[in-house]
Amino acid sequence: MKINQTQLELVDKQIKRILASGNYYSEVYKRAGITGVNSYEDFLKIPFTDKADLRNAYPLGIQAVPDEKIVRIHSSSGTTGKPVIIPYTAKDVDDWATMFARCYEIAGITNKDRIQITPGYGLWTAGIGFQAGCEKLGAMAIPMGPGNTEKQLQMMIDLQSTVICATSSYALLLAEEINRRGLRDRIKLKKGVIGSERWSDAKRAFIARELGIELYDIYGLTEIYGPGIGINCTGETGMHVFDDYLYTEIIDPATGEVLPDGEEGEIVITTLVKEGAPLIRFRTHDLSSIMPGQCHCGLSYPRLTTIKGRSDDMFKVHGVNMFPSQIEEILGEVDGVSSEYKIDIAHDDLKNRDIMMITAEADGRVDFQKTAEALKALCKSRLSVTPNVAIVSLNTLPRSEKKTQRVFDHRGD
Ligand code: ZN
Repeated sequence: MKINQTQLELVDKQIKRILASGNYYSEVYKRAGITGVNSYEDFLKIPFTDKADLRNAYPLGIQAVPDEKIVRIHSSSGTTGKPVIIPYTAKDVDDWATMFARCYEIAGITNKDRIQITPGYGLWTAGIGFQAGCEKLGAMAIPMGPGNTEKQLQMMIDLQSTVICATSSYALLLAEEINRRGLRDRIKLKKGVIGSERWSDAKRAFIARELGIELYDIYGLTEIYGPGIGINCTGETGMHVFDDYLYTEIIDPATGEVLPDGEEGEIVITTLVKEGAPLIRFRTHDLSSIMPGQCHCGLSYPRLTTIKGRSDDMFKVHGVNMFPSQIEEILGEVDGVSSEYKIDIAHDDLKNRDIMMITAEADGRVDFQKTAEALKALCKSRLSVTPNVAIVSLNTLPRSEKKTQRVFDHRGD
C-alpha cells in the first residue's frame, strides 16, 4: 500500500526532527544524504533499520527529544546480546493507550467490561499496555500479572471478569484448569485478547471452545510502542493496523524489495508521530501480508494477515521455504500428537538431496506407525515435501521455559 500524502508529510517532519536531535539516526541519515521526503520515491530511498541499530545505540542513543520530555522507558530483551531501550514521552504513552483502547473497542469491549490482565508488568511493554488501554477505554482493569493460577481463577470468579488478556500458552493453561476443576459455570468470560505469540488454529479453537469465548489477536512490538498497534476484528481474519500512527510495508526479507498487497513477506513499520524514539522503516522480522480491499466490518484501517512466523525462523528444504508454524499447524490436525516437535535437516551427498526429519510426540492410545504416515501425507500435500517422521512417547522431547529451538540444520556440519 503506497504511502498517502498525510503520512508522507508526517515522515518528512519526523526526519527533520531526527536530524535536529543529533541522535543515532541523525548520523545515519546525514551519511545517506537524507534531508526529508517529498514523494514516495524519496521515501523508498530511506534505509531500513533493524534491532541491531537499536543495540548499537544502547542505551539511549535513539532518543530524539530532550531528557525532560521522557517519562518512561521500556526494554525488549531479545535472545542474544544487549537489550534494547525505548524511551517514551507523555504523548507517546498517551498515543499508545489510545491505540490500545481502539483495539478493545474493535473487539467489542466496552467500559462496562472487567478486564483481567495476565501479561507481565515491568520493563517490557505487555501488562502496562493492556492496562493503559483498559483505563483509557474506561473499563475495570484487574491487573493480575502472570502466574499464580489459583488466584487468577479466584479473581475471575469473584470479580466476574468478562475479558481475559493473556499469551496463548497461558490462556490454554487457564482453559485446561477451568475445565479440570469444573468451573466453567462460575466464570463470566466473553472475550479473550491474546498477544505476543503466534499460535496455531488448533490451539485457538481449543481455547475458544473450552472457555466459550471469542478470541482476538493483538499485534505489537516493544520497538513500536508495544502490543496494541493492531487487532483482528469480528469481520474476517486479519488484523487492522492504525495508519494514522503507523505506515506499514511488506518487503521481501532477502532482497528488501517492497512487495505488492497480498504478497507475503516481512512487516516493516514507520512510526508517524512517535516522539521519544521515532523509527522509520523498522524491520520487524514478522511475516505477514497486507490484505487487499475493504474489510466487511467497515473499518478502513489497512489489514495484515495473522503473523505466520519470524523471517529468522524460515528454513529451506528442496528449495521450498518453510516455517515452523506450518509444521505446528499440521501437527495440530493429527489425533494424539502433542505440540512439541523437532525438525532436523541434513543433506544426503550421495543422492544430492535434502533430508527432513520430524520428531513428534504422541500419546499411547494411538498407533505410532499410522500417526507417522498421517503426518507424512499431510506434509506432502501441504508443503510438497515428504519428510521422514519419527513418533516418540509423550514428554520425550525437551521442554523449555524460554523459546524452544525447533529446527536443527545439519547441512553445514
Ligand atoms: Zn475489519
